[in-house]
Amino acid sequence: MDPVGVAAAPEAGPGPAWQSKCPWGTPKTASISCSLADVMSEQLAKELQLEEENAAFPEVVAVAEGPFITGENVDTSSDLMLAQMLQMEFDREYDAQLRREEKKFNGDSKVSISFENYRKVHPFDSDSSEDEVDWQDTRHDPYRADKPTITPKKGFIGKGKDITTKHDEVVCGRKNTARMENFAPEFQVGDGIGMDLKLSNQVFNALKQHAYSEERRSARLHEKKEHSTAEKAVDPKTRLLLYKMVSGGMLETITGCISTGKESVVFHAYGGNATEDDKVIPPECAIKVFKTTLNEFKNRDKYIKDDYRFKDRFSKLNPRKIIRMWAEKEMHNLTRMQNAGIPCPQVVILKKHVLVMSFIGQDQVPAPKLKDVKLNSEDMKKAYYQVLNMMQRLYKECNLVHADLSEYNMLWHDGKVWFIDVSQSVEPTHPHGLEFLFRDCRNVSQFFQKGGVAETLNERELFNAVSGLNITAENEVDFQAEIEALEKMNEDHVQNHGKKVSTFSTDGDPPIYNE
Ligand code: ADP
Ligand code: MN
Repeated sequence: MDPVGVAAAPEAGPGPAWQSKCPWGTPKTASISCSLADVMSEQLAKELQLEEENAAFPEVVAVAEGPFITGENVDTSSDLMLAQMLQMEFDREYDAQLRREEKKFNGDSKVSISFENYRKVHPFDSDSSEDEVDWQDTRHDPYRADKPTITPKKGFIGKGKDITTKHDEVVCGRKNTARMENFAPEFQVGDGIGMDLKLSNQVFNALKQHAYSEERRSARLHEKKEHSTAEKAVDPKTRLLLYKMVSGGMLETITGCISTGKESVVFHAYGGNATEDDKVIPPECAIKVFKTTLNEFKNRDKYIKDDYRFKDRFSKLNPRKIIRMWAEKEMHNLTRMQNAGIPCPQVVILKKHVLVMSFIGQDQVPAPKLKDVKLNSEDMKKAYYQVLNMMQRLYKECNLVHADLSEYNMLWHDGKVWFIDVSQSVEPTHPHGLEFLFRDCRNVSQFFQKGGVAETLNERELFNAVSGLNITAENEVDFQAEIEALEKMNEDHVQNHGKKVSTFSTDGDPPIYNE
């Protein structure tokens, strides 16, 4: 019997002689075997189909005009969305099955083999990535077939009529069967390995081809998913998160995109009726989606790596988790500011890399940035003193330095200034905290000076007014040097005492400007 052999197409009518002799009786529906040519053309058909799919499903997940996720339309409006969600479900089920197989495969063995590389959903994407065993060892492998006899260099073994060469059909067939193990684990090869199956070269090659093309296909799909994560507005996983927020009633409608930055995309949404921890959802929300592209965040390492609050965690995390940490950081910082009464968005909820907060603006129109709004001189002056006050309270009451403060991250709304974008904010004792503060002061000082506010403190005066330090250097270079010396002193102190306490001596608290 040749179970995988190339059989002729079944004929209609009474089965061929071998069928009636079959001890298991005549199969009701003859199994459809096919010729090698069919296999090959089937492959061709698949390739063509894949091409078609690629053309029909461009990877762009465009942000639609008007509401793009609402309670009503999400189920049916977008075939692409639906397909992506189904695909994601499928991938998850597939991975779950793979994990079961992996478990069965490894059994109680102390040495286990990981199937991780064959998963559809990248381990970084799943939450269970920590408990994966990813080292491999094949010393003990109960399922591995005995090694086929190795033919020595001379090309044959045995003597006389027992000679077998490397071309021997049986040896060759066994070798081919054993080599099937190299196919990806999801590739169905049956239990041929256990039953001393001998595969002809022809069949083996066809199978190998097919296994490789399946693997490539899977890799391509994966790459595409990754790519869309990096480049486009929202990747399927984020979309699913957003969808859940809408279907859970927390959000009513997500109307569209407000801003696409290097590191985040911000959407506008109308709040839903559900309450989150007894908090009433604001009528309008901003959703900040931290981009899961890794490149942009590399140069931000220094903000978070040296932040002692995150220090212990940093080294253990994978890049995707680090990005979630940015969102988490923004949430914590906003909460501190909220508690101190500094005008800023109010946190609604954080889910992974998606932060929902109250919307600063009205009727879907975000409040203008200070850089874009034309204020009269009275408002400009008012804004300046308000910013001075906010910077002081941020430092003193929240123990924070904004670290990216400029007219781009201050909004003008309801006749006052609002601080936003605080994911990179750090505590003043951060090894570069005072440098960040000095940079903030320079931006603020320059902006209001150009804006014609005569009372504006220069950057060094502003720095002292905010920090309560009394650096007397007359010029910028010396001032900067003193700042760095202070930072170094503090770091040394931390090194020696293992504690993060500020050693900055102040001549009493700076007078906080009251609006
Ligand atoms: P980025 O890191 O991309 O600069 P931001 O937090 O500054 O992220 O947000 C980008 C833009 O989105 C802001 O300049 C602002 O116009 C808008 N935006 C962000 N948060 C809000 C909010 N809570 N309310 C209204 N607009 C917001
Ligand atoms: Mn910003």
